[in-house]
Amino acid sequence: MSSETTPTENTLKKCPDLWFEDGTIILQTMDDDQQSFRVYPGILSMQSPVFKTLFTLPQSKCESSNTYEGCIIVQLQDTSQTLRHFLRAIFDWSYFPTQSNAHNYRAVLSVLKLSTKYEVTSLRSSAITVLSERFPTHFEITRFNEPGKAIVHPFQAANAALESNAMILLPSALLMCCAYKTETLLNGILLKNGVRYKLCDANLVTVLAARTKLTSVARRVVFRFAFYPLDINGCHFPEACRLGKIKWAESLERADGWIDLFAEIPTEIYRECRKHAVCVRTAAHSALWDALPGVFGLGDNWSVLKKLTTQ
Ligand SMILES: [Zn+2]
Repeated sequence: MSSETTPTENTLKKCPDLWFEDGTIILQTMDDDQQSFRVYPGILSMQSPVFKTLFTLPQSKCESSNTYEGCIIVQLQDTSQTLRHFLRAIFDWSYFPTQSNAHNYRAVLSVLKLSTKYEVTSLRSSAITVLSERFPTHFEITRFNEPGKAIVHPFQAANAALESNAMILLPSALLMCCAYKTETLLNGILLKNGVRYKLCDANLVTVLAARTKLTSVARRVVFRFAFYPLDINGCHFPEACRLGKIKWAESLERADGWIDLFAEIPTEIYRECRKHAVCVRTAAHSALWDALPGVFGLGDNWSVLKKLTTQ
């Protein structure tokens, strides 16, 4: 007789949408929730070389060799919620849409994390595609002018991208992080479930260092017209434009020194001056975007990040 205890109906917490009566293996999480998922090992093995290896290990080498109704129970270190999203994406193709509209970003982050860990390349690449709609890999100013629109917070996205080696998402996510006040960067944010969430140390160091560089770029390049005296030929209202510039420069600088790189040009800057300011800002944004991976110490350019992400 085996000395191991056999789980009963009472001790096993079945995940209702991932408990297939004809499944032949049970995955069990070890967090407080300790959910059990009765699934099909063949499908998991087909998608994931990591599961394939895991399932071919002799039972004694698995973390658990308990059984339930003849199914081996394999214990995993993932959290119940993360694993649930990932397994739903594996076993139900309609669960994981490829567009972000009204999408559950917690599911996307979970899928990114576990598809990386278990090497499910197609799902990983879908998760990166969905996230890149909110954390773009090419310059889309509107994405940076919609604070609070994302269900996933830039702190979460930056941490997930770093953890999952999805480097291509990092510049956008980190740039959005830079716009938070120093206090928020250090203390973290309060999530809806009441949990305090912080940037990981590596991302925090990167963001704090980049903020200094970016503030300087904002002042000297993007909004040079506001911060440094310059007379524009053909200006019809030099006095009004001068006052407009002073007011603009004051409004651009936040108390902690941060300058919103995507701030609008105020209406008090007129005609020729306005044209000039728009022109400078547009060219500066484009140059800044190209230089962004370097600003965050991630590599020389975007194609390096793309290569790193697909590895
Ligand atoms: Zn003017």
